[in-house]
Amino acid sequence: MAATTEELLALHGRIRACTACPLHATRTQAVPGYGPVTARIMAVGEAPGETEDREGKPFVGAAGQLLTRLLESVGLDRRDIYITNIIKCRPPGNRDPEAAEVLACSHFLDEQVSMLRPDVILILGRHALGRLLPGEGSITRLHGRRVTKGDRVFVPLYHPAAALYNASLLDTLQEDMRRVRGYLDDAARQQAAQQTEQTATTAREEQLILFD
Ligand code: SF4
Repeated sequence: MAATTEELLALHGRIRACTACPLHATRTQAVPGYGPVTARIMAVGEAPGETEDREGKPFVGAAGQLLTRLLESVGLDRRDIYITNIIKCRPPGNRDPEAAEVLACSHFLDEQVSMLRPDVILILGRHALGRLLPGEGSITRLHGRRVTKGDRVFVPLYHPAAALYNASLLDTLQEDMRRVRGYLDDAARQQAAQQTEQTATTAREEQLILFD
C-alpha cells in the first residue's frame, strides 16, 4: 500500500533532525524533499545549494527554475513531481558530496523511493547517477535513456546547473526532456491497453458464469 502524506512528513521530520554526518553542523537546515506522496515522477539531484539551504526546499535556485521551465516545456507541472537530492544537507561551499556523506544519507532516499513507488525516477547529474545506478555507465553515455533496474524505471539527465551556462548542454537537456515525455506517453498507452484487456477479460468471465 502506498504511503500517506503523514508518513512522508514524518520522514521529513526525521531528516530535519538528523545529525548522522558532519554536514548537519554547517547546514542552515536540512532539505528533505518536496512534492506530493502521490507523485508518479520523482526527480533526484545531488545536494541542496545555498538557496535551498536557506529556504528548506529543493531546486529553488537558478537550476531549479531551469528545471521548472524544462518540465513545463513538455507539459509537466513541477507540483506533480516529488523532488529531492541524494544528500539532504548542503556541503559547505557547494563542494561535491563525499562518499561517507552519501552513504550516511542513503537510507533516507531509499525510504522516499519505497514510500512513493514512482513510475519513473529522473536522475539529475552524475552524482545522483552514481548513487542510484552504480556501475551502469557515465552520464555522457546514459543521459536521455530509459534504464530499467528491478522494478524501477530511471531516466538519467544532465544536472540543470550544468546547463545553465552551456548552450549545447541545454539543447541536449531539452531533447532528453522530450524523450522523457515520450516514455511517459508510452507508459500511459500501455497502462490503458492493459486496463482495456483486463475489462474485456472480466466481461468474458462474467459471460461464462452466466452461461454456466
Ligand atoms: Fe543526516 Fe543526510 Fe544531513 Fe548527513 S546529509 S546530516 S546523513 S540528513
